Amino acid sequence: MVPFFRIYVKGCPIIFQVFISFCNNILNRRNCKITTNSISDLSSFGGYYNITVMQQKKWNYNPFWEEVLSQIQSSLSEQECITWLNRITYAKSEEQRLVLAVPSLFIRDYVVTQYKETIESTLREITGEEVAVDIVVKASTTTKTPEPEIVAKEVQKPTQLPKAQKKPRDLNINERYQFDNFVVGDNSSFAYNVSMAIAKNPGVSYNPCLIYGGVGLGKTHLIQSIGNFIQNNTPELQVVYVTAEMFTNEFIQAIGEEKTPQFRNKYRKADVLLIDDIHFLQKKASTQEEMFHVFNNLFEANKQLVFTCDRPINELRDIADRLKNRFTRGINVDLQPPAFETRLAILKRKCEENTCTIPFEVLEYISRNVNTNVRDLEANLTKLIAYGELLNREITLEIAQEQLKNNFSMGKNQSLSIDAIIRLVGDYFSVSPYDIKGKKRTKSVVLPRQIAMYITRSITEFSTTEIGYEFGGRDHTTVMHSVQRVEGMIQSDAGLSNSVQHLMQLAKNSKKG
Ligand code: ADP
Ligand code: MG
Repeated sequence: MVPFFRIYVKGCPIIFQVFISFCNNILNRRNCKITTNSISDLSSFGGYYNITVMQQKKWNYNPFWEEVLSQIQSSLSEQECITWLNRITYAKSEEQRLVLAVPSLFIRDYVVTQYKETIESTLREITGEEVAVDIVVKASTTTKTPEPEIVAKEVQKPTQLPKAQKKPRDLNINERYQFDNFVVGDNSSFAYNVSMAIAKNPGVSYNPCLIYGGVGLGKTHLIQSIGNFIQNNTPELQVVYVTAEMFTNEFIQAIGEEKTPQFRNKYRKADVLLIDDIHFLQKKASTQEEMFHVFNNLFEANKQLVFTCDRPINELRDIADRLKNRFTRGINVDLQPPAFETRLAILKRKCEENTCTIPFEVLEYISRNVNTNVRDLEANLTKLIAYGELLNREITLEIAQEQLKNNFSMGKNQSLSIDAIIRLVGDYFSVSPYDIKGKKRTKSVVLPRQIAMYITRSITEFSTTEIGYEFGGRDHTTVMHSVQRVEGMIQSDAGLSNSVQHLMQLAKNSKKG
């Protein structure tokens, strides 16, 4: 039933209409509306009105939304409002549901992660009821406001909202990798300091930066620490981390789906682009071409670029010179295998992180025996920790020796370094390690090189890929070919067979000594 009554109003009708519209503003919240209808000739001194109170469409959260918006806006910077909040428009109301619209999927994702919770809780406070909020993409809501990523750099540090204030993280970056838990030794201090300087001042100095070094030496840890540091301290900057393999796969997929413009946009928007393991780009001409353009765009815009590689750039093969040239344009820092003291410090640190107590002499034992890289150190420690936990036993030196002896034994040994074998074989044939790893194709160099590869493959557990890498960045097929060739020669040449056996024994003894 519609409430209806008649009133006599004395005085100016305009003032009465102003009063009615004021009432309507309030009633709007209760989904009601007053309509007036004069029933007598109105003079400026008064007259009769029929007043009808109409129930409006039942669910209308628009007025509430406006209040929510103004409340949230007051707690954010102007730039944040322009960039994000002003792009949200009211779409419709349903029973206990407010539907809002934004112009693109990108904005939707951002708004949902950053503001939805706050919108819901503010709405709950104002209406006193549970109202669900849905955010949908509606192209027509586009405004002339510039794309958020473009203005992102000028955005002030976002004012803290009670909830959901953080920018979405780059999920490719592992939060475990921080500068704080990177143990610095002589082998890594330069790379560490440069990385830290970049993280504190991206795009200002050391741009581009290349971090290179063998497997397991902390390249990914450092490059992701840069990403984490920037995400935590300068969240307005857009950080993009990918491995070169991910970059390649995304590129191939983009071509297949005819979405190369979107692919390029993603990288062009970055303020800080971190690309891990660029050696993966070898022999991938089209991806290199794409990377070259991404590089130029960002570099010219003073955006920070950081790369890692498992070898010095000049040892990469099948990479376009102009791209090599870009990678090495800024600063190049290397990571070397850690010395004994640093290995010990890393192990102690890992024990603290795992809150486990392993006797000092056990840590010393591992540090003495594992001199390859940090990943191997971690693997040995993890094995002992797991053993202790599973059998509920204290780890002693005897247990460590028993458990790790296979890892350290000479038969198949990771810690016998490839460099040691190269030196040994080089000394025997009077060829420098530099030449063995180098490009010379003379017989006097090729034979020792192939023998050194054969011995490495026979008495260590390194894969042909790892061996190829250590031998001057050669392909694993080259290693396989060398091994087969030496096997063949041993069959037919007793003299050579003796030399190889002798060298193999020397290598094993050098480890025991
Ligand atoms: P890379 O990328 O060079 O192959 P990673 O960065 O993946 O090597 O390192 C291998 C493991 O060793 C990771 O768990 C990493 O956290 C750890 N690590 C490497 N260097 C250090 C270091 N200096 N301090 C602490 N942990 C390290
Ligand atoms: Mg890595």
